[in-house]
Amino acid sequence: MQEKQQPQATLNISNCMDCPFHKVLADPDPDDWFCDDDVRVYCTKANQNITTACRPYNTRNESEVPTWCPLLTTSNPTHV
Ligand code: SF4
Repeated sequence: MQEKQQPQATLNISNCMDCPFHKVLADPDPDDWFCDDDVRVYCTKANQNITTACRPYNTRNESEVPTWCPLLTTSNPTHV
């Protein structure tokens, strides 16, 4: 009997903001009301912060895929 092939998907991204495993969470500075709306970008796959104390308009600039990304493969170490 022939084995059924499973479909595979490839994710090509260069920024964690485009990854389904990222989350944007509140990260206010308790000592500075001016930064009350700061956020952090968190990776739910690696359980690590990608960036913290980030201005909301700056999340994409601070969320390049890190070298510790669990989706990086040895066959393609520069792209997820
Ligand atoms: S570190 Fe990797 S898995 Fe985590 S959010 Fe970024 S691209 Fe996705």
